[in-house]
Amino acid sequence: MENTFDLIVIGAGPAGLTAAKCAAEAGLSVALLERKDTPQDILRMCGMMLVTLTGRYMGERTVYNEQARKLMFPHNGFSLNYDGPTKDFYSWHIYSPHEETVVFGDYGVNSAKGKEGRASAVYSKGHFLSGLLDECRRLGVKIFTGENVLSARKIGDTVEILTAGGKKFKGVFAIAADGRQSRVARSMGMNKGRGFYCTITSVGYEMTNLNLPQPYALHQPLVKSGNPPMMGFVVPRAWNHEGEDVWLVMISNVDMNADHEAIFDDFTMKSRFAPWFKGGRKVRRCGCTGNMYAPLVNPFKDNVLFAGDAGWCQEAEMTGAVMSGWKAGTSVVYAMMEKNHTQQGVQDYLDWWKTNHIEKLDYQVFLRNLYMPILCNDAEIDYLFNTIKETLPTVLDPYEVPENLGRALAKILPQVQQERPDLIAKITGFAKLPPEEVLRKTIRGGFNCSFTI
Ligand SMILES: Cc1cc2nc3c(=O)[nH]c(=O)nc-3n(C[C@H](O)[C@H](O)[C@H](O)COP(=O)(O)OP(=O)(O)OC[C@H]3O[C@@H](n4cnc5c(N)ncnc54)[C@H](O)[C@@H]3O)c2cc1C
Repeated sequence: MENTFDLIVIGAGPAGLTAAKCAAEAGLSVALLERKDTPQDILRMCGMMLVTLTGRYMGERTVYNEQARKLMFPHNGFSLNYDGPTKDFYSWHIYSPHEETVVFGDYGVNSAKGKEGRASAVYSKGHFLSGLLDECRRLGVKIFTGENVLSARKIGDTVEILTAGGKKFKGVFAIAADGRQSRVARSMGMNKGRGFYCTITSVGYEMTNLNLPQPYALHQPLVKSGNPPMMGFVVPRAWNHEGEDVWLVMISNVDMNADHEAIFDDFTMKSRFAPWFKGGRKVRRCGCTGNMYAPLVNPFKDNVLFAGDAGWCQEAEMTGAVMSGWKAGTSVVYAMMEKNHTQQGVQDYLDWWKTNHIEKLDYQVFLRNLYMPILCNDAEIDYLFNTIKETLPTVLDPYEVPENLGRALAKILPQVQQERPDLIAKITGFAKLPPEEVLRKTIRGGFNCSFTI
């Protein structure tokens, strides 16, 4: 029957494309449904940092072979082509609102070492997805663009997918890889009982001609603490524009009703960081809004597997998304070969998810990236950052950074005890307080309602 497949993949991002490629390579009939007309056009905000070439993320140590143009995932046993640009960067700097900086990696020392000293590299999501799309086409994946999926439900032995245009697609299995606002997860009731922590909105521009203290580094200014806190973010792009370096400059906060353009202007024109942007030229605008949920513990229902951001807390990162897509695709291949069209047939994927995501990546640690400007006011952050004198390890892992910051805070506890005993409860809260307590206001301010409740 037309529109009936072994596997239907929803979403042509890193997770969905990898899942589709993997299943098609094994000979399955695969349909890929994507709501955008051109999936490789990246409209949604993304830092495009490779997480990570220098440490482990989800137990994997990703390798980029520049000669062979291959991204390799040795522990997982697969590789993907990448023929786009890359640029190395050397450190991660988090700035307090007024004066101080905590640094992950010494920029001078690391950049002098070249590749040996890099924190990681940035790459181009557009090139990456373009290559995967070409491979999927060559392998016979039927790609349906401009198809906005509304729902998935099991009817008899098949999963039926309904699109906004009224089309129906049927599959033995489906993989929902429709990103962090997953409509499939919502339509199947998967978000019920899932912790919700905030709605984050980010607005920004790709800019040239910036005057940064360290051009090839990730800069993360905490522009304002309190209610609501506001964070900036500057990261090099892998490509140049008219011969000039390009950076992504963005601001994020948790109040959807805020005037984000005005906040961006304040950050780039009035804050202490304004000198970085004097003379800067805006090349392209981008942005995104996302609801932050706790991860799905069991990413499966009615023969639909959830992969990548669709089941994650906030973001799997592109590397986490491809690992998840690859593993989900592989499990469906086995289930089809063994004619076991049940949850048991894809248990391999669910076990992988449990071990590598739920147990290895504690989402509560990830949420601590939001804690500091909520627990402390501007002056308190200035004081704490000034007291941390050491350069912290060079890492690019959003789960490792709060852990390392927590360790650095623990080390300065005796000094803080003497100088600012009033801050002890806040420092211990950074490591110990549950997200439900610290993020209470952002939870209540989520979706489209005022933050000041
Ligand atoms: C501000 C920000 C910065 C980031 N920085 C980095 C970074 O530096 N490095 C990094 O690796 N990752 C970064 N990420 C995370 C990264 O972008 C994601 O983790 C990754 O893209 C997830 O891949 P995915 O395939 O699961 O989902 P997505 O990339 O979101 O792809 C989902 C696809 O599904 C499609 N879709 C959605 N709904 C439907 C529907 N109803 N029907 C049909 N199609 C649908 C979408 O159009 C999209 O093509 C960042 C994210 C944000 C928000």
